[in-house]
Amino acid sequence: MPELGEVEIVRQNLERWWVGESASEVVLEDEHLLTRGTPERLETLLRSPCKAMQRRGKYLFAEFDDAYVVFHFRMTGKITREDDESPEYTRLAWHVPAGWLTFKDSRRLGHVEVVEADEFDEYEPIAKLGPEPHDLDGAMLCSRVNGRKLKNALLDQTVVAGVGNIAISEIFFDEELPPEVSGDELDSEQWDRLARALPRFFDALIADQKSDEVMYLNQGKAENPFTVYKREGEPCPRCGALIKRKKVAGRSSYFCPECQA
Ligand SMILES: [Zn+2]
Repeated sequence: MPELGEVEIVRQNLERWWVGESASEVVLEDEHLLTRGTPERLETLLRSPCKAMQRRGKYLFAEFDDAYVVFHFRMTGKITREDDESPEYTRLAWHVPAGWLTFKDSRRLGHVEVVEADEFDEYEPIAKLGPEPHDLDGAMLCSRVNGRKLKNALLDQTVVAGVGNIAISEIFFDEELPPEVSGDELDSEQWDRLARALPRFFDALIADQKSDEVMYLNQGKAENPFTVYKREGEPCPRCGALIKRKKVAGRSSYFCPECQA
């Protein structure tokens, strides 16, 4: 499922395909996709020039003269460029000179919202987000986690924006942190390392996975690019012990029981 890195790849693609352009056709296949604003308002905006593509955490938003269109992908949502307007799982498509920009979503949990410019500062899903991983140092991260269980705190988008379950498994493995480690067990050097590891993980993922269509592991076709995530039973690349899986904070953590003890 998309975390900061996958959403940033889509942002960069849309910046290339869409900014400066307006749609000549708009097809809202699934009205349930739109959870704020009207279909008419959405269509009017998409038919006007897109001024910028921005991202905060896992939210992507297109800026127009007097409003924003916010995209949230949740489990399986993504935006791709297509030759026709109705490939499988299309919920919304709009035609720009580069092709059909298509919101596809097999689980249909994603959504699109229209937020007028004068409401944007108070638009809660984005207003309440914590800082981006790239804007945090060790001391800030430590104080935001505030002694909570580290995984719970990092999944909380008000603590730090854009981090998800995959990043946490991978970074905890790199930093040799037990899956259930608590914030008050880390020393200041570990906080500094963690604060550097978060943006480094996303930067590497973006460089590695950048493509016109981001593939998600839960969609089956993608190869697993991760070191421990979804690798239960495989040998740890550091010590050879078998990778384990355990639910922590309601989500599967993948970890080495030896290195991360
Ligand atoms: Zn190991």
